[in-house]
Amino acid sequence: MKHLEKAIMVTKSFLPPFEEYSKEIERIWETHWLTNMGPLHEELKNKLNEYLKTSNSTLCNNGHLALEIGLRALELPNGGEVITTPFTFASTTHAIVNSGLKPVFCDIEMKTYNLDVEKIEDLITEKTVAIMPVHVFGNPCDVKKIEEIAQKYNLKVFYDAAHAFGVEINEKGIGTFGDLSMFSLHATKVFNSIEGGVLTYNNPTLQKKLRLFKNFGITGPETVEAVGLNSKMNEFQAAMGIVNLRYIDEQIEKRKIITQRYRENLKRIEGITFIDDLENVKHNYSYFPIVIEEKIFGKTRDELFEELKEYNIFTRKYFYPLITDFDCYKEEYKNIELLNAKYISARVLTLPIYGELDLEIVEYICEVIKKIGA
Ligand SMILES: *Cc1c(COP(=O)(O)O)cnc(C)c1O
Repeated sequence: MKHLEKAIMVTKSFLPPFEEYSKEIERIWETHWLTNMGPLHEELKNKLNEYLKTSNSTLCNNGHLALEIGLRALELPNGGEVITTPFTFASTTHAIVNSGLKPVFCDIEMKTYNLDVEKIEDLITEKTVAIMPVHVFGNPCDVKKIEEIAQKYNLKVFYDAAHAFGVEINEKGIGTFGDLSMFSLHATKVFNSIEGGVLTYNNPTLQKKLRLFKNFGITGPETVEAVGLNSKMNEFQAAMGIVNLRYIDEQIEKRKIITQRYRENLKRIEGITFIDDLENVKHNYSYFPIVIEEKIFGKTRDELFEELKEYNIFTRKYFYPLITDFDCYKEEYKNIELLNAKYISARVLTLPIYGELDLEIVEYICEVIKKIGA
């Protein structure tokens, strides 16, 4: 089999036409307003409210700090327990810990790899203050059941929607569920503002608090009310967001076609499974994870990962290791049982996907996978 001349990476950051971006940032040279909630920031915010179908949003310089700002604004008691998933990016857990809260890990379910809502209630104690689920790979959590539990036990819900930009359930923006949601606009995500984060929420009183915490706690020229952070989105980021928003629907459509092509080809390979579209969900096709059942496929996930590299195909083990196996957490969580999360984490591999990925390359990747397994 012929090897690709150019390496195929798991993703390729979207960039708009250079002229379009340079035209957008010309305005900055007119105003000399580089950051601190300038006109481009305000324009992007309004456009995102519309696109994400949310009534309120707060823009931050990255997704991680948006999580930390959001947790502060929820004013959870110090040391409170937050039920969350171990099958996520480091950021989710770090945000909880950096906020003086304690992560309590709940296992995931096998259909979407999201928090298993049937297992949440068993973990609730008198110290539980919030649930922080992740819409992993952009597939929505069981938001209805989570809301029921949160109401029953009076808990806050903060969704890490880093992967879920543009996702909808029954035509409702996914950022309208729970108390808060965070979308990451990092370069590697479906929609980027170079780096960036958006918090969305229904309760307008959160706006003031979020704004306070993202700007050092400053409320006026001579008043600082809180020990805040600095997490303001600058005008260059906002300009990138404004321009990229013109392309997002097209990008998601291209990703959908790529996803369909992967599914058509891979469903014929035994020992490989993937998540299909979910009912009543508008997907964003942000990732294409597969799960390798080594006994049927013939190779382990790690073997497939390594052998694909020889063909110049670079995949990612998302999410491996589990958060509970990170050096910084493993001592504390070594006795915890997370069967499904461990199972998926040991077998999952995300394949290359980005708007400009050629369908011929997708075909080629599938052929190579088939050959490696045979
Ligand atoms: C990317 C990501 C974040 C952090 O977002 P940044 O914008 O990179 O800071 C948080 N949670 C998850 C699940 C992510 O994938």
